[in-house]
Amino acid sequence: MLAIYPGSFDPVTYGHIDVIERALRIFGRLVVAVAHNLEKTPIFTVEERLKILRAVTREIPGVEVDGFEGLLVDYARRRGANVIVRGLRALSDFEYEFQMALTNRKIAGDIETVFLMPSEQYSYLSSRIIKEISALGGDVSAFVPDIVARMLKAQG
Ligand code: ADP
Repeated sequence: MLAIYPGSFDPVTYGHIDVIERALRIFGRLVVAVAHNLEKTPIFTVEERLKILRAVTREIPGVEVDGFEGLLVDYARRRGANVIVRGLRALSDFEYEFQMALTNRKIAGDIETVFLMPSEQYSYLSSRIIKEISALGGDVSAFVPDIVARMLKAQG
């Protein structure tokens, strides 16, 4: 069964990778889908994020990396997937995710959203925190794959 894991992935962290691995144990095939979304100040372009995701998932069988524009449920339908995977960390994720999942259900009742919890050690990790640490010159290598740490450093 094919599932879609959508997000910004700006940048991908070990938390995302943990969710990817868990999803694959259930669904077998997973499209990690980078949203061309509305965030005003991304640190990496969509093209860079796709490149990074392809590099870090190259050795994980069953993963495809793609970008999409427009409504997620339209993209899922185009891909023939009726499962959306999202990660759930602390309580703070709940309200937004609940709203999104039920809204998507309203507009596409045939598509189900499934939430997966990461390993505890990643449950406080977010792309936003990585961007902040990196902008302040901190070391993010415990939280993101090497390629991400290197590209963040290269951004200055
Ligand atoms: P979005 O802008 O769609 O929230 P993100 O890249 O921030 O994009 O997150 C994509 C998905 O991955 C979301 O469901 C988010 O909750 C989940 N996620 C992000 N970081 C983690 C983490 N550390 N552990 C588990 N899930 C995570």
